Amino acid sequence: MVVDAAVEAGSKAIDWISDQIHKGLDYLLTDRAGDVTQGKSQAPSTGTPGSTYEQVDDKGNIKSRTQYNNQSKVGTRDDYNHQHFDKKTQEYLQPHRHTYKYNRHGQPIGETIGPIP
Ligand SMILES: [Zn+2]
Repeated sequence: MVVDAAVEAGSKAIDWISDQIHKGLDYLLTDRAGDVTQGKSQAPSTGTPGSTYEQVDDKGNIKSRTQYNNQSKVGTRDDYNHQHFDKKTQEYLQPHRHTYKYNRHGQPIGETIGPIP
C-alpha cells in the first residue's frame, strides 16, 4: 500500500511537471509569432520574429504594416498611405511592399519594392 501511494504521488508529480512543460512550450511557441501590435509611431527597427507592427493614423487607418523576419529585423513593410513609382511597369503602386534583404550577419544588403502579393 505504501508503495502504491508513493507510485501514485510520483505519477501525479510527473503529470504536473509535464503539464507545466506543455504550458511553457505553448507560451514560447504560439504566443508571439502571430502577434500584431499597433502604434502611431514608425515601426521599431527590430521586433519579435514573425510578429507584425501596424502604424495607424489618428482615425485608426493603417498607414503601414511591418513584418519582422527570423533575424528580428524588418522583413517587409507594406505602405498604404503613399505611392511608389515602379520603373518596371511604369505604374504608381499604392499600396506597395518594401522587401528588405540582409546578409547572414544581419547587415542590410538591399531592398525591392513591388505590389503586395
Ligand atoms: Zn513606400
